[in-house]
This record gives sequence, structure tokens and C-alpha cells, in this order.
Amino acid sequence: MSLIVQKFGGSSVRDAGRVMNVAGIITDTWKAGNRVVAVVSAQGDTTDDLIEKAREINPNPSRRENDMLLSAGEQISVALLAMAVEKLGCPAVSLLGWQAGFKTNSTYGNARIKTIETDRLQAELEKNNIVIVAGFQGVNKFDDVTTLGRGGSDTSAVALAAALSAKSCQIFTDVDGVYTGDPRIVKNAVKLPEISYDEMLELATLGAQVLHNRSVEMAKKYNVNLEVLSSLQRIPGTKVKENAGVEKMLIRGATRDNDVARISIVGVRDIPGVAFRIFSRLAAKKINVDIILQSVGRDGTKDISFTVARDHAAEAVAELNTLKEQLGATEIICDENVSKVSIVGAGMETHPGVASKMFEALFDAGINIQMISTSEIKISVLIDIKDSESALKAVHDAFID
Ligand code: ASP
Ligand code: MG
Repeated sequence: MSLIVQKFGGSSVRDAGRVMNVAGIITDTWKAGNRVVAVVSAQGDTTDDLIEKAREINPNPSRRENDMLLSAGEQISVALLAMAVEKLGCPAVSLLGWQAGFKTNSTYGNARIKTIETDRLQAELEKNNIVIVAGFQGVNKFDDVTTLGRGGSDTSAVALAAALSAKSCQIFTDVDGVYTGDPRIVKNAVKLPEISYDEMLELATLGAQVLHNRSVEMAKKYNVNLEVLSSLQRIPGTKVKENAGVEKMLIRGATRDNDVARISIVGVRDIPGVAFRIFSRLAAKKINVDIILQSVGRDGTKDISFTVARDHAAEAVAELNTLKEQLGATEIICDENVSKVSIVGAGMETHPGVASKMFEALFDAGINIQMISTSEIKISVLIDIKDSESALKAVHDAFID
């Protein structure tokens, strides 16, 4: 009998009607002769609401208590979904992360799954139960509840699919697949029938909101058959796999990410060790740096600019201010009015001219590029945030018609 893991996001279990709808999907899969493990997120905006509730009481709660609170959202969902399945006359059991064997490290709020001890899960599946597992949570070596970071239920589902050698892992959401661009902004975005793990990982990291990037990383590592599809329409979604689509598609998608800030350190000494000092300090503070640009030295000085996630900007600037004198910097500037627009596609590895086509599209739209970064399968530009939407449209339409 084959096993399918089906994951449902918060919007798919928003209210009683949606919970019953999900119960319909998983019981149909079960009745078709499959074993089913369902992974669910907290209903609707529950996680945000819980964060707000905490803030009302203590704006700076300990991470342990925060995880204790946030994990409650998924506890509600699993119980309600199990009740819905019972109502449809099928056997179900709900399990919290620790009951399902999710062992994590101790980084509260952003824990990593170390192993999944599947004995209990296997036993429940043997009893022919539909097993409903709380996403986004596990337990650490101190027996404390941990959470996996916002959007972490995708990762729970993929990890379970890997641990149980599932035939496939279906991620149900409120869109019907992965699109070439955000359909809310890019009107002629098209749905991709399939995409490679590497491309999906880039898209997820660069701002496409459909999958948690860690889940894609894990799917690639364990070769999990992943599919993104709608919980509201029963139509095929997007398959994420090792080798996708032989058809000639230069660009698989365009994204924008407004969660970025640019920091410039002006007039630092043009001597060895400056970049090392700056970036080792940021690394020690666990601040992730993305695009880096260093100017050519002139009169013994140079400028170094880089981007960070917006909520790390203030901390990065504070750290750099303590180094300012040592580096001889005249100024540290932080600009939060920036946006990163990217294109992704394995096709660009073998086709020259992709970058120039992207820059031409931006030029035609009158958009100035502040920074550029590339990898084998992506090109990103940093631009003024006011141009973010028009840049995304222009770039998307240059490659996808
Ligand atoms: N409920 C959690 C969140 O909103 C986890 C998830 O939805 O994947 O981030
Ligand atoms: Mg969610």
C-alpha cells in the first residue's frame, strides 16, 4: 500500500467549512487505497494572532515560552481535522510534533529537525488510521516544544515524507501551483507544470511565497516527489523534481522581495582585511548578507555595500558603528527603500544574453539598477522600492509571453 503525505496550509483550514473540505480530500485519498499522513498548519491568521497576544503581555518573551504559545495553533488544527474525518466515518488520530517523533535541535523559534522517530506513526498507520500531524513543531533534548520558523509546516511535511519513504508529498495551498510570477501583480503569469528542485529553491529564497525554502532543500536532499496544488480545486498542480521540463524555457519565474535593506560603508581604508573584518563581525551576529558590492579603490579608500533582511538592518548598522573608527569609515548609510527583483531558470546556464535582456527590460521601463548579483541559475537586481512592481512586470514580460 502506498503512503501519501498531504500538507494543508493555514488558509486551507481557515474555518469549519475548509476543515471539512480538507477532510474530504484526505478521506478520498485514503478510500482510494492509500495510507495517508496529513500535516496541518494553524488556522488562518492564528499564528499572527498568537504573536500579537504575546506582545500585549510581554513584547520580549523568552523564546521557549514563545514556542510553547505558537505551537498551540497547530494543536487546534489537528484536533479539528481529526474530528472532521471521524464525522466522515473514517478512522483518524491526531498527533502533536513530539508524539509524531519530531526531534529537533534547541534553537527555539527556528529549530532544525534532527530525526523523526517514526514508531508511533507506523503503529497508527498499521491500525489503518489516517494520521494527522501538527506541522511546524517538534521537541528538543530538554523535552521542550520547539517551532521550526514561520512557514515551517512545509518542512514538517517533506521531512515526514522522507522519513516514511512516502510515494509523494502534496502541498495543498490556496493557489493551484507555482507560477512564473506573482499572479496578483503579473497578470499574464502562467502556471508551471513542473520545476526542478534547484529552481524552486531559488524562487522560494528570492521571494516566491509558495514553499518554505528549507522544505525544498530537504526534498532535494531526500529526493521527495513534491507537488504544490490547490485545496479548493481538484486540478493538477506543479511538480517539483530533480530534472524538470525538457522544453525550452529560458526563465522559470520572476520574483521580487521587499524584505531587504542596503547598507553602505563609505570611505573605508583600501587595505587587506577590511571586508573580512566587516563580514566576520556580521557572521558572528548571525546576520545573513546577500548581495555584496565593493567599489574600486581611489585615494586609498573604497566603499563597501551589501544587503541584509530588513529586520536585521538596525542590528547590522549598530555592529558596524562599533567598527567605524577601526575601518576608517566616514559614513554608514542604511536604505530600507529598496527591493530585489530576480529571474530564475536553469536555461540561463547554457544561453548567453539572459542578463542583457533583463537589463534592457529594466532600461525600457526607466528603472535604475543599484546592485546586481548572479549565480548559475539566477540574476538579481536591487532597485528602488517604488519601482518594484513595474520592474517585476517588465522583467517577467520580457521572458514569458
Ligand atoms: N503556522 C505557522 C506559520 O504561520 C507555520 C506554517 O503555517 O507553516 O508560520
Ligand atoms: Mg502558513
